[in-house]
Amino acid sequence: MNPAAEVLLKVSGLKVAYGGIQAVKGIDFEVREGELVSLIGSNGAGKTTTMKAITGLLGFTAGDIQYLGRSIKGRGAWDMVRAGLAMVPEGRGVFTRMSITENLQMGAHIRDDRAEIAHDLEKVFAIFPRLKERRTQLAGTMSGGEQQMLAMGRALMSRPKVLLLDEPSMGLSPIMVDKIFEVVREVHGQGVTVLLVEQNASRALQIADRGYVMESGVITMSGPARQMLDDPKVRAAYLGE
Ligand code: ATP
Repeated sequence: MNPAAEVLLKVSGLKVAYGGIQAVKGIDFEVREGELVSLIGSNGAGKTTTMKAITGLLGFTAGDIQYLGRSIKGRGAWDMVRAGLAMVPEGRGVFTRMSITENLQMGAHIRDDRAEIAHDLEKVFAIFPRLKERRTQLAGTMSGGEQQMLAMGRALMSRPKVLLLDEPSMGLSPIMVDKIFEVVREVHGQGVTVLLVEQNASRALQIADRGYVMESGVITMSGPARQMLDDPKVRAAYLGE
C-alpha cells in the first residue's frame, strides 16, 4: 500500500441487513488510488452485499461508506455511477438483444464527449480483441467468458475511478478464468483502481496489492496480498492446502 495515495473508498463499521438477517456485521476496509484490492471469502460471506452497499443499490443500517472523502449515505446508484464507481455484477447483466458495440456504447451513457468515447471504444477493443472481432454480434449469443469481457469493457467505457468486479471468474472454464484474471491485471496495470470480489482466493490474491478475507459477515484477515498467500492460515482455509 502506498500511504501517500488518496483513499478513494473507506468502509467503516458497515452493517447491512435483509429484514432481520444481518448479512454484513460491522466491517472496515479501504481502497486507495491505484490499488487492486481483493475481497475474498466463501459463498454467503457477505461480499456481494458489501458491493451493493458501496454502489448505492442497498442501504445500510450502521457505519459508513465514504467515497472520495464524502459519505455515500442516501445517494442512489445512479449518482454513484456518475461519481465514478462502476460495478460489474455477478451474472454480468449484458443487454442480450444488443450488439457488442451497442453494449459498450451504453457504458458511456453518462458521458457526452463523443470523440473521447470513440477513442475509449478502441481502447476497450485493444484490451479485448475478441469483442472487436464480434462487434456486430448480439451479446446474448456469446459465451459466458465473452459476456464477462463485455461487461468489463462496458464498465470501462464509463471511465471509472474505481472498478468493482463481483466474482468475474464464476462459472467460467479454466482457460477463460486465466484470461479474465489476465485482463483484470492488465486493466489495473493501466492505472484503474480495482476492488475485486472473488471466491477464487488464490487467483484473486495473486494479482492483488492487498486482500481482505470475509467470513459470515465479518472481516477475519487482511494484509498485503503476497503475505496472505504465504500465510498458513489463509492457505489452509482458502487455498485448499
Ligand atoms: P456469493 O458468493 O454467494 O455471492 P457472498 O459472499 O457475496 O456470496 P452475499 O450474497 O452477500 O454473500 O450474502 C450474504 C448473506 O446474506 C447470505 O447469508 C445470504 O443468504 C443473505 N442474503 C443475500 N441476499 C439476500 C436477500 N435478498 N434476502 C435475504 N438474505 C439475503
